[in-house]
Amino acid sequence: MLENVKGIGPKTKKLLNNLNIFTVNDLVNYYPYRYNVYNISDLVENENITVHAKVISEPKVAYIRRNFNMLSFNAQIDNKLVKIVIYNRGYLKNNILINKELTLVGKYKEKSNTFTASNIIFKKMLNTEIEPVYNLTKGITNNAISKLINEAYLEYNGEYNLPNYIVHKYKFIPKRKAVYNIHNPTSTDMFNLSKKTLIYEEFFDFMFKVNYLKIKNENIKVNTKYNLDIGKIKKIINSLPFKLTNDQLTSVKDLLEDLKNGKKVNRLILGDVGSGKTIVAFIFMYIHYISGYQSVMMVPIEILAFQHFTSIKKVFNDIEINIEILTSSTSNRERTRILKDLKEEKIDILIGTHSLINDEVVIPKLKLVITDEQHRFGVKQRQSLENKNENVNVIYMSATPIPRTLAITIYGDMDISYIKEKPLNNKKVITKVLKEKNIKEMLYKVLEEIKKDNQVFVVVPTIEESDSLENVDSVYNKFNNAFNNKIPIEIMHGKLKNEEKDIILNNFKTKKTKILVSTTVVEVGIDIKDATVIVIFNAERFGLATLHQLRGRVGRSNKQSYAYLISDYETERLEILENETDGFIISEKDFELRSSGDMFGTRQSGEVRLSLADFKRDYQILLKAKEDSYNFIKENINNLNDFPYFKEEIKKIEFLT
Ligand code: ADP
Ligand code: MG
Repeated sequence: MLENVKGIGPKTKKLLNNLNIFTVNDLVNYYPYRYNVYNISDLVENENITVHAKVISEPKVAYIRRNFNMLSFNAQIDNKLVKIVIYNRGYLKNNILINKELTLVGKYKEKSNTFTASNIIFKKMLNTEIEPVYNLTKGITNNAISKLINEAYLEYNGEYNLPNYIVHKYKFIPKRKAVYNIHNPTSTDMFNLSKKTLIYEEFFDFMFKVNYLKIKNENIKVNTKYNLDIGKIKKIINSLPFKLTNDQLTSVKDLLEDLKNGKKVNRLILGDVGSGKTIVAFIFMYIHYISGYQSVMMVPIEILAFQHFTSIKKVFNDIEINIEILTSSTSNRERTRILKDLKEEKIDILIGTHSLINDEVVIPKLKLVITDEQHRFGVKQRQSLENKNENVNVIYMSATPIPRTLAITIYGDMDISYIKEKPLNNKKVITKVLKEKNIKEMLYKVLEEIKKDNQVFVVVPTIEESDSLENVDSVYNKFNNAFNNKIPIEIMHGKLKNEEKDIILNNFKTKKTKILVSTTVVEVGIDIKDATVIVIFNAERFGLATLHQLRGRVGRSNKQSYAYLISDYETERLEILENETDGFIISEKDFELRSSGDMFGTRQSGEVRLSLADFKRDYQILLKAKEDSYNFIKENINNLNDFPYFKEEIKKIEFLT
């Protein structure tokens, strides 16, 4: 009970609830996201320093103008009498008492013998002191939350959420102690030890869930009958206008193998933009069709649904197979007919957007769900589709290139097929990093390409107005000014309704507009053959993997294409893209350069919440936790119920599956 903690009344309780803190345990396990380190130094000039000081004179407050005051007093620092100044802390006047010892953070100027403080700490700090910094909500200060945590700690007698033998094996210090050290770090060794231990605990829990799903899935034997008529499958493959790459063939074989082994397919197809994942999905849908089952494919935006719909119709042109499309703009009449036909098993393949999830969409013979650009959907959305029937095979397709090592960890519950080869020997997209002042070069190219009836994507980091970043409007104006409003330009961003986005994309696709200015919503696999230039403003704001994915919007035909990365910062990092075209190598470099929190935004938000641990920094601990949790499950598969914590964790994930 939070109320039992000293200092927590109804008001504070509410504030804590805002931070997702509901119990004493939550509060104690509310870990800092970083630490301020103070090292007491001598009185040196012009550097940000922390010093001990003793108050010598009464403080004075000068009110300079509205909302601006200056507090000053004399203090002794290193046996020297120094004038201390701090702005807008007039309210501290009564706390500054003669002879009191303080710690001051700020800068010293010898000439005026003045120390301008940015912070006053009302105690004499140890020579090295580490202050935990917490995520806050309005109405609660860092100091306050730190105090509350230490009060709550008195009510806390937590244990590790780990099997006992693990705690013994690694000789972990008691959980209480580890938690205490995270909030009150004193010795570095003790702090590091505590942190490692708690990070291990977080990873163990995470990997437990991943491994549990994996092991459970391995043990499911389905007795769905399939028609694995290799002759027919080969015939379809041979009828394609192109030859499948080796990686595409391997992916198809992986899927066939899953079926042969009586497994419930649960596979992620990871392949760079343009690697040809879609056709693999189509072939698998065909196998379901000849086996008498229905398949659906869900995509995040309508235009992509139409794109797939058109190409699948072409692929299966000579076959009597019934393919339909269902999106939010399907007319009511059409929709009613499609729902009826689906129910009567007259439709073999259905392509669509979120509209497929609706409960009214009943698919009696559904055995395959394919989710394209899987990171665009939430877990619940995907699962409600997959739960429309029993033992539904699941394929996710993703172009988010993540390093292989990491993929097998965070997507460890799934089987993975990689498509690395690119089928089209398209010309390499010529990529150039440009400083803002040199964008003329880019504007000339844009004009040149538009004259050739080609099109241009322009990407900006934000729709909001901002001092430091370009936004959709500022860039829209930039291009209109440069081209005297003579070239049709439209703006697209995530805040528009799906229908609006589809209209804008359609205008672009049909060349009504020549330039599309947008946020990263264009990142998803839209195929516009005549787009030959992409310009990305404030490119430093994006990870290399994202930039690479954005670049994949152009170069989709045999025309020479161009990418301009506009940035005044971090140009060295961006220049990696000038030479490198392999998405997996780029993702490895990105992984080296950025924190994993940035990279795995999608899987972390919503699906995984790690507070202390970091996939990249703590990778070695992750591997240990992965192995240990796997063995733990294998050895205890029949008595996991004896572990109350893991029993609860299983309930949580089973609720989802
Ligand atoms: P992505 O993996 O990004 O979803 P797509 O499946 O959209 O890529 O394929 C990109 C383009 O490559 C499409 O136009 C598709 O028809 C074409 N394609 C796919 N496989 C091959 C192949 N083996 N040979 C030639 N072109 C191919
Ligand atoms: Mg695609």
